[in-house]
Amino acid sequence: MKIPDHPDIARTLLTGCPREYKSVQCADCEKELYGDEKIYISDGDTVCGDCLKKRILEDYDIDVLADAFDIRKTTADDYLEESEENPYDGE
Ligand SMILES: [Zn+2]
Repeated sequence: MKIPDHPDIARTLLTGCPREYKSVQCADCEKELYGDEKIYISDGDTVCGDCLKKRILEDYDIDVLADAFDIRKTTADDYLEESEENPYDGE
């Protein structure tokens, strides 16, 4: 009578890995993401952080990003004019 291998042993012999680790594949770079690795769902696609950055930089105008991060926008002239009106600001 042959005793069957434990499932972890059988899997190790077949795949080199004792357990089946489930992963999520990045839709853009096809990297496999496991366990605690962060994934982002962008337009319904699961993507890694690096690919999310690329998508954001390709998809959004810098003014939209500045608004999203509450970064003040002005022009050089307006900035200089404000600085001259308030020369002691920031001191
Ligand atoms: Zn990726």
